[in-house]
Amino acid sequence: MSHAYQRCINPDCAATYDVAEPLFGCSACGDLLDVAYEWDRLPLPRSLREFEASWSERDNPLCFSGVWRFRALLPFVTSEYVVTIGEGQTLLRQSERVAAYVGLSPGRLFLQYEGLNPSGSFKDNGMTACLSHARLCGAKRAACASTGNTSASLALFCAAAGWPSPIVFVGSGKIAYGKLSQALEYGALTLQIMGDFDDAMRQVQQAARHLKLYLANSLNPFRLEGQKAIMYRVLESLRWTVPDWIVVPGGNLGNSSAFGKAWQELRDLGLVDRVPRLAIINAAGADTLYQLYEVRGLRWNGGRPDMRLVEEFYRQLDAQNKRANTIASAIEINRPVNLKKALRALEICDGVVRRVTDQEILDAKAQVGAGGLGCEPASAASVAGVKRLVEEGVIGRDETVVCILTGHLLKDPVATVAYHGTDQKQFEAVLGSRGVKRATFANRPVVVPNDLEEILRAIQLYATR
Ligand SMILES: *Cc1c(COP(=O)(O)O)cnc(C)c1O
Ligand SMILES: [Zn+2]
Repeated sequence: MSHAYQRCINPDCAATYDVAEPLFGCSACGDLLDVAYEWDRLPLPRSLREFEASWSERDNPLCFSGVWRFRALLPFVTSEYVVTIGEGQTLLRQSERVAAYVGLSPGRLFLQYEGLNPSGSFKDNGMTACLSHARLCGAKRAACASTGNTSASLALFCAAAGWPSPIVFVGSGKIAYGKLSQALEYGALTLQIMGDFDDAMRQVQQAARHLKLYLANSLNPFRLEGQKAIMYRVLESLRWTVPDWIVVPGGNLGNSSAFGKAWQELRDLGLVDRVPRLAIINAAGADTLYQLYEVRGLRWNGGRPDMRLVEEFYRQLDAQNKRANTIASAIEINRPVNLKKALRALEICDGVVRRVTDQEILDAKAQVGAGGLGCEPASAASVAGVKRLVEEGVIGRDETVVCILTGHLLKDPVATVAYHGTDQKQFEAVLGSRGVKRATFANRPVVVPNDLEEILRAIQLYATR
């Protein structure tokens, strides 16, 4: 007997479905689904501290996993179905350098480094949960549309679990090389759609329906259950104290949605006494949530957001033939599938949305790297967002802020080398074309002749820092 089920987020529908149905959308009204629980019939910890018991059981894969050691908070599946590859061995690191860069007092800025996951991004948190659900449903083959990291993660999990190769849809020319190389190496059937992510997303949903593929995109509510664990690990690293702010880049808005659900549940279950504020950061070239939430005033409104505002906005995008465009390819998305859930998260966490330029993103990224943690462009949007919010006075200098570094530096080497390198043509092609004017914190490679004396002279000249 399961005490988990699926429930439509639309309060006027509220249809419910069995936990083991592979649905990915409400059959009655088409809206998004939540995973819901009958908490009062489930065993729950009395305090978050009880999770510390798993630290001494690291030989149990469920306790080793940074997702499943919190399985009492995502109890939709029994352990026999769980697919785990050691995801979630991540790290929350205080960074003085980045704190100074964004204008926070010493000791106030923390970076939650999700690049340490097996596939190098936070997506593994969700993938372990959704593939466990796929097994529960008896699904045979998975598919996803991806800006890169979802396909890398799905391909890795399927390869590791001995599943048939997944089918991944990517926009052509839109995927960073680190991510594409993973999908190919792990054996995914990789379809490069002649279009962008929003096109790939539309196509994969139809193909999945035709071919009965298990859809691993973040409109899959089980993925979001796994991603709640990022918040649990932040809490764990802060010894169960709640930070003032969580700051996260916003693409398809799965992560921000999952965070909102995590905090609402923790509060409802009495496991925390307050929730942090949430800041979702869009890239300026893909700023749908910013435009709708901050400019047009779209709100969750008890589950009845004014969808005419959304339709109107999308009509304008189409009329202007406007496509998402940012170096932060992981958030290069104009039609975020989890928009409604993100509105709910903003409501729960008294949230704000900001947009940052590719210039701000790359400069913040270089600061993160110089501080000793490498991330990909999309991740650095969170740091650039904090800098803005501190300048605006929305985030106070003495508040405790956690930025989610969503993906590893090596995901997108082209962006990094174009920034630091000396090849002006490459800079123009990769960055200049996106409005980036200068590599403010470039660490230039030095070209020297193959000659010891010249080499020694160069070292003397340049090694002054
Ligand atoms: C997927 C991804 C994002 C965007 O997350 P959403 O849940 O789609 O908003 C941000 N950064 C990285 C590195 C990603 O892979
Ligand atoms: Zn419904």
